[in-house]
Amino acid sequence: MEEQYAKIIETIGEDLSRPGLIDTPKRAAKAFKFLTEGYHQDLDEVVNDALFPSDSSEMVIVKDIELYSLCEHHLLPFVGVCHVAYIPDGQVLGLSKIARIVDMYARRLQIQENLATQIANTVSEITGAIGVAVIIEAKHMCMMMRGVEKQNSSMKTSAMVGVFRTNQPTRSEFLSLIQ
Ligand SMILES: [Zn+2]
Repeated sequence: MEEQYAKIIETIGEDLSRPGLIDTPKRAAKAFKFLTEGYHQDLDEVVNDALFPSDSSEMVIVKDIELYSLCEHHLLPFVGVCHVAYIPDGQVLGLSKIARIVDMYARRLQIQENLATQIANTVSEITGAIGVAVIIEAKHMCMMMRGVEKQNSSMKTSAMVGVFRTNQPTRSEFLSLIQ
């Protein structure tokens, strides 16, 4: 990957031997590996048995989880927040694990729609919840820095599973709680 970055830098007409750039291919490769490390993570390791028995059937919401991902069309970042809610059915998941699941899928090449769906399906599968809701609000550098150059546009996507899909009052409660 280092060699590929060196080629890219040369292709744009830069001088790879100048002091500021001499280690850039190495640093860029290291950064890109970190930003895509979600491909090498294992769900079982991420969750690490942090499932606990619970009698609660009240909605659990984790709001404003910071989200950093890369758009698969331009390899440019999209940045925003993710809100996750679920209604447990006998067991709850450690709160930090939800954020780690978000990171595991965000650190891949993504489109925002798929990211929300992957997070919702995963939380649903591992908790056996009766419903899961995910909303992502993000700004896309590929829209802000190039293309249409719309600096203030943000994109909102959602994925609803179980009762959040079938029950309007449940969905409304969630939407009002994340306002
Ligand atoms: Zn893009």
